[in-house]
Amino acid sequence: MAETPLTVQAFLHQAQAQGVARLDAMLLLGEAVQQSRTWLIAHSEYALTPIETQQAMHWLHQRALGVPLAYLLGRREFHGLMLKVTPAVLDPRPDTETLVDWALEVWPDAEPTGGPSSPSRPLRVLDLGTGSGAIALALKAAHPLAQVHACDASPAALEVAQNNATSLGLPLTFHTGHWWGAVHGLRFDLAVANPPYIREDDPHLPALVHEPASALVAGQQGLADLWSIIEAAPSHLEAGAWLLLEHGHDQASAVAQALVEAGFVDIAHRHDLSGHTRCTGGRLPR
Ligand code: GLN
Repeated sequence: MAETPLTVQAFLHQAQAQGVARLDAMLLLGEAVQQSRTWLIAHSEYALTPIETQQAMHWLHQRALGVPLAYLLGRREFHGLMLKVTPAVLDPRPDTETLVDWALEVWPDAEPTGGPSSPSRPLRVLDLGTGSGAIALALKAAHPLAQVHACDASPAALEVAQNNATSLGLPLTFHTGHWWGAVHGLRFDLAVANPPYIREDDPHLPALVHEPASALVAGQQGLADLWSIIEAAPSHLEAGAWLLLEHGHDQASAVAQALVEAGFVDIAHRHDLSGHTRCTGGRLPR
């Protein structure tokens, strides 16, 4: 006897039983049957074809195991841009949009002439550890005339970023290498980074096993990469340039202190969507 075909409604029940959020389940199912969420709501009795069933159930199983939705769908929206995302890169977080917004806020102050009205040359920006290219592309989208550079130590990540730049029509300058070592000899007016900052013994780490550890975990209580970036920053930034960093919820004062020690002034913070102090930055004196 043939098995009863899986309906939309039955799939959503299965998702609930496996602890998968309804929204995630609908997005995966929509992808499997190539229909919108609205369509799924209106067609709860639709019977999936065997191929659709196989695809949807595979994704559901993966999601239940904790694989990020973005990896299963192969995409993630970030600051209004649709990015291609693979397991080679960190799944861009909405919290990181805070860093983008802050960079756009300090932008006029970072302009080479000190004002946006008559810049003598395009603003030079760097996204350190770009991953999918999320931050760099969001900045380039907002300021197409700026010269936006992006570096990453992972060639596989850079390939994802490059694909995103091409498909979005947002040209960036890419560099392979570790932090400032990737952009030897260049100086920037604004630099941003969402580096790895999770400590090796962080209890949240097991939930993040599907993402590249090199994008998440750092030594020295999660501060090693933040410190490397801050220490070498002054020799790669113009006078008056801003350095804005994302960090862990309890790292704001350590990051602020490192910035002060490196000679930065006007140290400030920004909060993420849950109200944690998630970003700290400063600028070099003019
Ligand atoms: N914000 C991410 C998380 O806590 C970590 C990103 C990072 O280490 N840069 O899941």
